[in-house]
Amino acid sequence: SDFQQLKLNKALVKVCHQQGYKYPTQIQAQVIPLILAGKDVLANSCTGSGKTAAFLLPLMERFGNTKSQRYSKALIVLPTRELALQCFEMFQMLNQFSNCTAALVIGAVPIQQQEAELRRYPDIIIATPGRIVDILKNSFSIDLSSIEVLVLDEADRLMEMGFEAEIKEILQQTPRDRQTVLISATLKATVQQLSLLALHKPVKVSV
Ligand code: AMP
Repeated sequence: SDFQQLKLNKALVKVCHQQGYKYPTQIQAQVIPLILAGKDVLANSCTGSGKTAAFLLPLMERFGNTKSQRYSKALIVLPTRELALQCFEMFQMLNQFSNCTAALVIGAVPIQQQEAELRRYPDIIIATPGRIVDILKNSFSIDLSSIEVLVLDEADRLMEMGFEAEIKEILQQTPRDRQTVLISATLKATVQQLSLLALHKPVKVSV
């Protein structure tokens, strides 16, 4: 199938078919190969485009089959608890035939519980900026120095909601040579500034 041509493993192809995804959406067809190839991406795309699976599928392909659980490999940052939860639910759906691990790190959940989860080094961390920075500053249960891929989803809203300081903190705590994927419905000035700060020679995708 077209998902197979995108070089996703059998379990991921199977779950896409089971979900009724016949073809990759435009953003998926463009972004999945870029993320698999390790490129930085600046994607201008909104909700409904299939953007969540466009970054989750390649992350699961890359990090879902590794045995060692000694560090987390990807961090996805979204502006609200609701959006983070939706992303986590999409992850769980896509993970039905795979054994990738993810933790949801948002406010309103006891912090100790999240710290315990983070100490088991999930492959993927799905977080809101406030809670992840709270944990970074106040406990030793998270270390972002091993993060290979950082995804900033709904970047325009991240900036509008005043999370610039938290994003800067996350950029500082993750490796300089990390891969970064920035997705935004609009490419207004604040997002352009963020992309200059966060991305290295990004491939620009607009759908
Ligand atoms: P998103 O843009 O990530 O919020 O996704 C919007 C909706 O599109 C979700 O309900 C997904 O389940 C659905 N979706 C994602 N990828 C595909 C696809 N390849 N074909 C059909 N629907 C999809």
